Amino acid sequence: MSERCPLTATMTDGKPHEASVFMLHRDGHRVPVTVKVMPIRDEEGKIIGGIETFTDNSKNFQLQEQIAELEKLSLIDELTRSGNRRYANITLDTKFNEFNRYDWPFGVILFDIDNFKAVNDNYGHDIGDDVLKMVARTIMANIRSPQSLFFRWGGEEFVILGTNVNALQLYDIAERMRNLVASSMLTQKGRELSVTVSAGVTVAQPGDNSETIMRRADELMYLSKKTGKNRSSVG
Ligand code: GH3
Ligand code: MG
Ligand code: MG
Repeated sequence: MSERCPLTATMTDGKPHEASVFMLHRDGHRVPVTVKVMPIRDEEGKIIGGIETFTDNSKNFQLQEQIAELEKLSLIDELTRSGNRRYANITLDTKFNEFNRYDWPFGVILFDIDNFKAVNDNYGHDIGDDVLKMVARTIMANIRSPQSLFFRWGGEEFVILGTNVNALQLYDIAERMRNLVASSMLTQKGRELSVTVSAGVTVAQPGDNSETIMRRADELMYLSKKTGKNRSSVG
């Protein structure tokens, strides 16, 4: 009965009903729709009408939602729930447009975890993953967004993109994060496990693009490694 006319059914028995129907779209095609009806009662409890809600069930609609979800997923790093490298590159392009058009300063900090291979070797890959999450959480919880944005750049590499900052201010942010990471820890079988990071800090210069700024950040990060790790280099 409710399949035929849910409104009549609800008006008759006072219960919610639903039905799958095909409504005519204004373009002429039929759209599959779920109709749900709830009774409306007056003060005495007498049924005086029904509320109908319509949900579009068309595949197209579901597909659009699925695509939006997939797009979101392909910009988010699943392990740390931060933006991924693709997201970082898209954001860098936007920042370079603003930099070239309006001179809005920005820069990047590239962090790489020190001796991370040893963490995996000594504790296993799963604990390694926990350490990655801990480092990401520490930085995400302590940056000021939206001026600073955070991304996972690769395996054990992370990026902060800082807007409206000069090199010195960005270096201060890098050092603050480096110290916070060094003082964070995982408790593992009664032992406290912590890691350090090395950073490369650089700001956008005229003629730069996403590749050149990241290459410079990488070289500076490597300089931090060569000069003893657990430090930041700015250039
Ligand atoms: P350095 O101080 O010079 O950076 O040394 P490192 O050991 O950190 O550098 P290396 O590049 O040799 O090792 C990085 C390691 O990170 C190797 C790789 O197995 C590990 N790694 C990359 N992605 C992941 C991940 O998603 N999970 C885990 N657990 N390990 C990862
Ligand atoms: Mg690395
Ligand atoms: Mg490393």
